[in-house]
Amino acid sequence: MRKKIVAGNWKMNTTLQEGVKLAQEVEALAASVSNDALIIVCTPFTHLTEVKKSIKKVKLGAENCAAEVSGAYTGEVSASMVASTGAEYVIIGHSERRAYYHETDEILAKKVKLALANNLTPIFCIGELLSEREAGKHFDVVKSQLEKGLFDLSAEDFGKLVIAYEPVWAIGTGKTATSAQAQEIHKVIREAIAAKYGKTVADNTSILYGGSCNDKNAAELFANPDVDGGLIGGAALKAESFITIAKSF
Ligand code: PEP
Repeated sequence: MRKKIVAGNWKMNTTLQEGVKLAQEVEALAASVSNDALIIVCTPFTHLTEVKKSIKKVKLGAENCAAEVSGAYTGEVSASMVASTGAEYVIIGHSERRAYYHETDEILAKKVKLALANNLTPIFCIGELLSEREAGKHFDVVKSQLEKGLFDLSAEDFGKLVIAYEPVWAIGTGKTATSAQAQEIHKVIREAIAAKYGKTVADNTSILYGGSCNDKNAAELFANPDVDGGLIGGAALKAESFITIAKSF
């Protein structure tokens, strides 16, 4: 069966020293999590190697990777470089990457393949804008993001992914999707995966909710049958809040 997961996305926050301290705190508190949820911290590239030394139960991820293998791409960090730090996960397709860095579905599809080729598990983000939800297009938007970003993968490769549904209007806004809205669209996402890859693959795929998920609302969101955990931004920057979320299953 699919895993329960709580993944922190630190974004462009914390110096190296602050990040190591936060990771140490998360690792220490993770010992008190008695459920079998997987706890992941996704950190800036600069922090990966040092954070790796501070965690054991907690797993490590990056927030991005390049769409090319190697070479003359100044400032980029490849999937193989990420993997060489000991990271096991990588967030791909976060709405901030899509919006501010113009990462298209085609670019994201390349990143996913490179991540998989380097044995990284992509945490692939999808989600609609507020205008798209208001126009009633949210189901079509997420289905299109799945199709264009992921649906040329084999069933075997698709089975290695984690999906994060993150409505853009809920990210960093304090405006969380309701529990019913989250369940409704997670179910649609799982049905789209089932239509493409079959029920077993769909049932085994962890689909996380992201968007102002915190220690107060996580339990209600995670109680839904198709919500398998969370991708957590702001609340992942405080170890206690993050671990309270991990205990919310
Ligand atoms: C995110 O950026 O992935 C996220 C969910 O952010 P926040 O929890 O701060 O809304």
